[in-house]
Formats: sequence, C-alpha cells, structure tokens
Amino acid sequence: MNNKDNNYCLQVTGKSKLLGVIGDPIEHSLSPVMHNAALSKLGLDYVYLPFPIAPENLEVAIAGFAAVGVVGFSVTIPHKQAIIPLLSEISPVAEAIGAVNTVTRQGDRWVGTNTDVEGFIAPLQTTYQQNWSQKQAVILGNGGAARAVVAGCIQLGFSEVHLVGRNKNKLDEFRQSWHNSPFVNKFEVHAWEELSNLISQANLLVNSTPVGMYPHVDNSPLSAAEMANLPTDAIAYDLIYIPKPTKFLHLAEQQGAIAIDGLEMLVQQGAAALKIWLQRDNVPVDEMRQALKNHLGI
Ligand code: NAP
Repeated sequence: MNNKDNNYCLQVTGKSKLLGVIGDPIEHSLSPVMHNAALSKLGLDYVYLPFPIAPENLEVAIAGFAAVGVVGFSVTIPHKQAIIPLLSEISPVAEAIGAVNTVTRQGDRWVGTNTDVEGFIAPLQTTYQQNWSQKQAVILGNGGAARAVVAGCIQLGFSEVHLVGRNKNKLDEFRQSWHNSPFVNKFEVHAWEELSNLISQANLLVNSTPVGMYPHVDNSPLSAAEMANLPTDAIAYDLIYIPKPTKFLHLAEQQGAIAIDGLEMLVQQGAAALKIWLQRDNVPVDEMRQALKNHLGI
C-alpha cells in the first residue's frame, strides 16, 4: 500500500451501513480504496469491505448478506455469472452480456446490474466523443471483460464490431453464449490470424487480454510490426491500468494513435455502482480516481 493512502479517514460506528465486494481471490481488489475514499468525502456512515468468498460458499454468503442488512456489493471473478441465479432480478444490460458486477438490496430482493459497460464507454462518450456510426472496432480477447467491451461498442453504435481470439473453441463458446442476447448478430468473431487485415481498418482497437499487465510490462498482444498497420488517427484502448502506459499503448502512441488506459473504466464502473447504492446522481469521481492513483503510485 502506498503511504499516501491515508489521506482520508473513514469512521465506522454502530450504525455504519455495509457495502463490499465479493470475489475469490479478493485481496488485490482496488474497489475498497476508491469506494471508501468516496464515502469519506461524502461524510456518509457507510463502510465498503472486501469479502473473500469461495464458489461453494456463494449461496450461503448471499443469504448471510441479506441477514445482516448489506446495502449492496460489487461482484468480481469468479462470481459474475454464478451470482445470477441467486438474484431476484437483473437489468437488461446484465442480461444482454450475461454477467453482473453490481448487486443492490431492494426491499427483500437482490437486484443485479452491470456497470462495466458504462465504465468502458465513459471516456469514449466524453473526452474522445465522435460519431461512431461509420467506425469499426476491433477487440482483442474473448474473456469476461470483452463481454462489456462488445456491448459497449454496440451501444455506442459502431458500424462493425470485430472480436479476435486465439482459441477457436473458446471463440465459438463466446459467440454461442450470446444466443439469447439482442447483441448476438451485431458482432463478428475472428481467429488471431485475421488480425492484420482487421487492424488496418480499425478506428478503435481494444486490448481486453491481460497481456502486458504488471509485472509482464515488456509484453504486448501486438508486435510493433503489427501495430504499424493501425491507422494514425485510431484510438487504442487498453483495459490494463498498470503499467502506465502499457507496451500496447506505447506502440500505438508511436504510431500516432490516441491512447486510453483502463483506469477511467475502473473509476467509472465504480462511480456508477455507488450512485445506485446511494441513490444519488453525483458521487465524488475525482476523489475516487485520485485515491486509486495514490494507491497505485501513478
Ligand atoms: P479473462 O476472462 O481471463 O480473459 C482474458 C482473455 O485474454 C481470454 O480471452 C484469453 O484467451 C486472452 N488471452 C490471454 N493471454 C493471451 C495471449 N497471450 N494472447 C492472446 N490472448 C490472450 O480476463 P478478463 O476478466 O476479461 O480481463 C482481461 C483484462 O482486462 C485484465 O488485464 C483485467 O485486469 C482487465 N480488466 C480491466 C478492467 C477495468 O476496469 N479497467 C475491468 C475488467 C478487466 P483465451 O480465452 O484463449 O484463454
């Protein structure tokens, strides 16, 4: 932990309300840092805790959360899909992508949604806003995060959304898993070998693989030669936030492209969740971002 972390103070009282994050493992989660910074700034008597919950304990843990009056919680790996049958209702966006990252207690019901899509598209709707309707998106990787990226690109109105993966079986499974979603026919999947043709047409190139994440900072999902095909006015977006920049973003910037890292997605998906739990239109996004930067030392 960075020693600048202690620039806010959260007081837990007998009346403190509970928020948290469930995952397995959970000790590396950055969510407690940013959420407690926001709660402290707002002066609210809430606390946001990490809950390590093994898959076999998920059901009993959620029942326990109801019993102790948890207001809401974030959901991370490996529970984003497994939580769905335990909820009374999920939002259309969570239904469409088949994953929940935010759960809220409403009366005696648990309601799930997914704020990763909102987090992903936030920088593309603000700082880098364009008319996307004539643009092509190319997404690397077909894991959990790619689901939010595909949905986000479709929501932004990209004319073509291409997803590229290295394993044919997993690619087929990824496509098949969308069969009940309204987004199913709005993207195409491709083998890695097709990447060089796709890159030269890409207006947005997204890395949703973990390749290049700290400590493997010299790795990139694309070589310099492959990146040389990226149009100079493209946007390269890496979901990774450490290192800053990743090698992927460094190569893209050398090519003249705009680079977006994953920190803002992390902040904005958290801010969207906090708005839901607190039923407020505004939360202190700047404090959340700064708390993460302090913690990460960036
Ligand atoms: P995941 O479910 O494990 O998926 C990773 C994907 O990357 C898989 O499709 C995997 O391919 C592919 N991949 C792994 N190594 C590869 C390689 N060497 N070459 C090509 N493809 C490779 O992980 P995830 O949850 O989607 O997360 C992916 C990244 O996004 C992580 O770095 C994570 O930290 C980041 N992320 C950031 C945010 C944010 O808020 N900024 C949110 C979520 C995730 P196979 O399917 O073939 O194994």
